[in-house]
Amino acid sequence: MKIQYLGTAAAEGWPGIFCNCPVCREAVRRGGKNIRSRSQALVDDSLLIDFPPDSYYHMIQYHVPMAAVQNILLTHAHQDHFYPLDLTMRGNGFSDEVTGILQIYGNELCCEWFGEAVRTASPYMELDRRLAFHTITKFQTLNLQGYTITPLPALHDRRQNCLIYLLKKDGKKLLYGNDTGWFPDETWRFLEREGHLDGVSLDCTMGRQKEGTNHMGIPDNREVIKRLKLYGCVDSDTKIVITHFSHHGGVLHEELEQEVGTDGWYVAYDGFCLEI
Ligand SMILES: [Zn+2]
Ligand SMILES: [Zn+2]
Ligand SMILES: [Zn+2]
Repeated sequence: MKIQYLGTAAAEGWPGIFCNCPVCREAVRRGGKNIRSRSQALVDDSLLIDFPPDSYYHMIQYHVPMAAVQNILLTHAHQDHFYPLDLTMRGNGFSDEVTGILQIYGNELCCEWFGEAVRTASPYMELDRRLAFHTITKFQTLNLQGYTITPLPALHDRRQNCLIYLLKKDGKKLLYGNDTGWFPDETWRFLEREGHLDGVSLDCTMGRQKEGTNHMGIPDNREVIKRLKLYGCVDSDTKIVITHFSHHGGVLHEELEQEVGTDGWYVAYDGFCLEI
């Protein structure tokens, strides 16, 4: 299973769109892996996780075959993970020679946002023939493109049911884990029964700071990995990635790599590919 990280920043991007703080200015000065767009991942060049406002830029920058994408999994309704207005550009009059209906899976609030975006579009766009939304709930397994996908509850915005995902295909298992704080008990109970994971991708919004109530930082990530090892989910063969970084965490890419070098973890950057 190949996972490409298309965007690795928190909500405002890094540099933050309107931010003039020292770490945003330093990110601009250094450039390269310190320039981070909003969160999105592409699995095996075909299955998208999240649809941020930077999806268009990701398509251009990383040659994402957006016209061929059949399914999008959404983690939650925050603007850095779901920007439905751009989905309407799949409509008649804006996209030609479109095949199939793009299937979108997300929580109840994502469904509301999607409905609102569709309502603002012209009927001429025939969006019901171009897009379909499916409301999903925790632990409701989906079978798509040969993947078995289980949404697990996250500890994030309490006003909605935020989800992280366990993806399985061809004997490989990936836990895609952002945005979330310390996993809820029911997520731990589920993971305890899952056995070995080949890839674990964790929220590291806060850099070196401990958080755990809505996002994580490296100290939280270390505790999560410790618990996953205890459950037999993580061993020396498991590839561990941290992602979703905020300038408020204050740690630039090179320093993040130094910080987790001895842990053997990967620090995601925009365009980073992981094979598990
Ligand atoms: Zn986010
Ligand atoms: Zn900043
Ligand atoms: Zn969020």
